[in-house]
Amino acid sequence: MGDWKTKLIKFQTLLDDIGKSRGNLKFDKSFLAVHELADQTFCEKAAELTQALATTEDFQPTEQQLVGKMSHEKLTEDGVPISFLNIWKEIYERKNCYVHEMLLAANYQGVGILGKPDLVYFESAVPRFIFEFKFSKHYKPFANYHVQAQVYGYQLNQMGFDTTDLFYAFIIAKPRWKNNIEFVKLIPKRTMERFHKDKLYELDQSMMTFNNIGVYINKFIPEKAIKELDFCLGYWLDKRKAIPTQNKNKCRSCKVKKHCKFYLMRQDWKGRKFYDR
Ligand code: SF4
Repeated sequence: MGDWKTKLIKFQTLLDDIGKSRGNLKFDKSFLAVHELADQTFCEKAAELTQALATTEDFQPTEQQLVGKMSHEKLTEDGVPISFLNIWKEIYERKNCYVHEMLLAANYQGVGILGKPDLVYFESAVPRFIFEFKFSKHYKPFANYHVQAQVYGYQLNQMGFDTTDLFYAFIIAKPRWKNNIEFVKLIPKRTMERFHKDKLYELDQSMMTFNNIGVYINKFIPEKAIKELDFCLGYWLDKRKAIPTQNKNKCRSCKVKKHCKFYLMRQDWKGRKFYDR
């Protein structure tokens, strides 16, 4: 039996274990999704309130989330759905391949973590790049983007892939690019070409643009991923309370602010609507 099949069986066993695990996390969750860890980094209190409100009518996706969802659907509409077994076979048998929304998993300190990065590029079965598409009015990557990508890298590592030379990149496009998605789809390949041509693999961080779409490239560093996981799981394992952000700009656009006692308290301290100034 080929080595990759052994790794695949191990991965399927991990998924089975996650499926059977009992909820030992907050909100009786039995596993965590990577996007939940990323949301938590934006503001832990907002992530907690979102979980608590998830079934109420107060909880509606923001316009940016809707644009992101629609654009991601368009990005993958030409993709060919293939089975688990075939994905792994393709990765190990082809010289290079791009995999959309590949299921990744890891067990960290007894907690199952599942994720689906937008795109992973493999060269000879070695993951070289994780690409995440962000349709946002903001040009720069936020800290929560990094947490998301670092945990994906950690998962790939735990699934038996060599992540020594793994990079991750955020492709950040203004929401209007959802109307020209064919151009956006070409960016990962063009990024790879320029990455090799300009020897950007010698740098831990680099950046390039394609028609005002920014591509922010970072080396995957396992120690950073572990540090983030330790911090995030402290909350989910109920070792500490949710920490509210101190960044008032985040509160301004927070969709659960009317339920947040920290937001309301800060308004009271000022005796007026501090965040609406
Ligand atoms: S209002 Fe601010 S502190 Fe409160 S949940 Fe929202 S982002 Fe977090």
